[in-house]
Amino acid sequence: MDLSAHIRSIPDYPKPGILFRDITTLLADARAFRRAVDELVQPFAGRRIAKVAGIEARGFILGGAVAHQLSAGFLPVRKKGKLPAETLRQTYALEYGTDEVEIHADAVAPGETVLLIDDLIATGGTAEAAITLLRRANADVVGAAFVIDLPDLGGSKRIEAMNVPVQSLVSFPGH
Ligand code: AMP
Repeated sequence: MDLSAHIRSIPDYPKPGILFRDITTLLADARAFRRAVDELVQPFAGRRIAKVAGIEARGFILGGAVAHQLSAGFLPVRKKGKLPAETLRQTYALEYGTDEVEIHADAVAPGETVLLIDDLIATGGTAEAAITLLRRANADVVGAAFVIDLPDLGGSKRIEAMNVPVQSLVSFPGH
């Protein structure tokens, strides 16, 4: 199955010059959704993954399904201000300005193996912040997996430079 055929590309969203890769069309197709989750899980099947960390919001949909398949727990990496209990917060750079992500301070036990999941990796800034947070909580981040890689933006190389292996299912040239 060609998963890329199930991803819709929307020019100039959310702002001019961005080609938005929309996975709602993939999620809406039962076979494509199942296939994407199976392919995300495959490299980690049989490995001991204690928790899957999903990045808000599309990483929650995929990460929840992956956690179920791996019989792992799920932990949300959220935008700031959304988590109710004590949090760890990490600031990261955007093209213009900064943003912040948080996890609950007790979301992961020291040494637990964690797999990071999101729909897409572009510059890698979001994933890098998530991995930094997880490591601050003393997690052992054993991999990061994405449906889509935009390799020209360098994100997967950036994450591999942190010694976290990166898997992706589909890659698109450009940004
Ligand atoms: P980055 O931090 O640059 O790797 O951006 C990754 C985050 O932004 C992910 O959570 C993506 O869902 C979102 N994102 C970045 N670029 C795109 C794009 N072209 N289409 C859809 N989502 C994107």
